[in-house]
Amino acid sequence: MILVGDDPASAVYVRHKTRACEELGYLSVQLDLPATASQDEVLHAIETLNADPDIDGLLVQLPLPEGLDERGLVRTIRPDKDVDCQHPESVAALAVGTPTFVPATPLGIMEILHDEGVEVRGAEVVIVGRSNIVGRPLAALMLVNDATVTVCHSRTRDLGEVTRRADILVVATGRVGLVTGDMVKPGAAVIDVGINRTPSPEPGGKDRLVGDVDRPSVEPVAGRLTPVPGGVGPLTIAMLMRNTLAAARAHDEAR
Ligand code: NAD
Repeated sequence: MILVGDDPASAVYVRHKTRACEELGYLSVQLDLPATASQDEVLHAIETLNADPDIDGLLVQLPLPEGLDERGLVRTIRPDKDVDCQHPESVAALAVGTPTFVPATPLGIMEILHDEGVEVRGAEVVIVGRSNIVGRPLAALMLVNDATVTVCHSRTRDLGEVTRRADILVVATGRVGLVTGDMVKPGAAVIDVGINRTPSPEPGGKDRLVGDVDRPSVEPVAGRLTPVPGGVGPLTIAMLMRNTLAAARAHDEAR
């Protein structure tokens, strides 16, 4: 993992990934660079991991500090080590329905639906949020799995009118309480991807993590609703570990 700068949320995510590696007995290497690192310095870190035969998978923790060309950097990741699907080649493969690596969060969402016995084939799926790490790749993955997919975003005109059609509603916006009970079809499976740090209601208490879904109003309407924390987050890490294992096996076979 390559961590550039001192974004506190990124540091937490990288720590969780490192812990998962340790629990599974994976070798884990973290290259830390300051927020002032140049494009060439980050490039050098990627090239170091690309060339290391002990490393089967690598990722650049996003977002990168301003001034760095994220697209230019991720395209230097070796595609066979691109376990978080950052390289445009992996993204294109997913877009045309022949995925190599799939980004960990969308894969985790598919895993939750599978585990819960929620039928994706033919389902009406609405995804709120079109980011490159969640909304867009999830839409491609849902199509691979034969869902009927609608993607909503900040310019969608009547969000509730669209979300009420969903058998499976995925919310990934970073907007606390965006989806309320009146926007959910009764019995729908609702996946809350949001992880938002909010101040504790008690003075001096620790910050809380909350999702994008207004739980009190959605819980009585939805058939299923993933928790925050403890829902999509841990599955994201598990899927990253699974992708890394797949890369390691492919490298072993090629040796
Ligand atoms: P982002 O900030 O890159 O994009 C947000 C998206 O939400 C945009 O496409 C925007 O159009 C849409 N949006 C914003 N306001 C909206 C509105 N009012 N109505 C409809 N759409 C709106 O988002 P991201 O990086 O995908 O992150 C989204 C959330 O998911 C964040 O809370 C983030 O922390 C969380 N996240 C969680 C995991 C996990 O493992 N659980 C992984 C990635 C992101």
